[in-house]
Amino acid sequence: DPMLEVEALCRRFGDTPAVQDVGFRVVRGQVTCLLGPSGCGKSTTLRMIAGIEQPDSGRIRIDGRPMCDTGTFLPPERRPVGLMFQDFALFPHLDVAANVGFGLQGPAADRRNRVGELLERVGLSGYATKYPHELSGGEQQRVALIRALAPRPCLMLMDEPFCSLDNRLRDGVRDAALDLLRETGTTVLMVTHDPEEAMLMGHRIAVMRKGRLVQEGPPQDLYDRP
Ligand code: ADP
Ligand code: ADP
Repeated sequence: DPMLEVEALCRRFGDTPAVQDVGFRVVRGQVTCLLGPSGCGKSTTLRMIAGIEQPDSGRIRIDGRPMCDTGTFLPPERRPVGLMFQDFALFPHLDVAANVGFGLQGPAADRRNRVGELLERVGLSGYATKYPHELSGGEQQRVALIRALAPRPCLMLMDEPFCSLDNRLRDGVRDAALDLLRETGTTVLMVTHDPEEAMLMGHRIAVMRKGRLVQEGPPQDLYDRP
């Protein structure tokens, strides 16, 4: 059974139909990329799955549980998702350890171990007591990644997560992210406007145009299409 099921999702803003009848599934342990040009409705789709945006109609299930259906709307904090969004910055007043530990529950010693293990995993062991402004852009993205992964979410939602990085940094952070996502077997839905990035990261690619899903399949299907 799929980790994410989206059915007949619709959302308009005034006269703009931002998302029209969008449906797809994300298989457990796989990375699915939502690809398409700017303005085609990718972010709105992701935000509805996260619960930040309310759909006009449609159904969303994560791990078999309804998030959104007639009579049901789970708020973002009750959804089993991790968010890594371009505009979802680190908490500036918290140090790195507190940022990474933010969504964790349980005994302090367990949380501390989890935070330490994740920092080590992305090569930031010495950074626990540093503050976000003391970190480079690439380091900040790594912290944002492990902050989202720390509570072991069912589904990671990533919106152009590497977009703000320059080319040189992007490859390094993307490789680190891919390694960690694969190693942890995390299920991912990632928004990108970059076909190369979708090819590189996606087990499957869902293509959107003008609010609609126009194609869905493995990366080679994009090449094969005339
Ligand atoms: P993408 O992520 O593919 O760039 P978006 O989902 O951000 O596309 O936007 C889809 C369409 O919905 C665009 O026409 C955009 O201008 C519009 N839109 C998105 N959010 C809002 C909003 N809060 N208010 C009005 N229009 C919006
Ligand atoms: P509490 O949240 O109960 O006040 P602490 O202040 O000890 O616990 O820690 C805050 C969060 O940061 C917790 O998630 C803790 O596990 C983690 N943490 C604090 N300092 C470090 C550190 N040096 N290395 C790793 N994790 C740390």
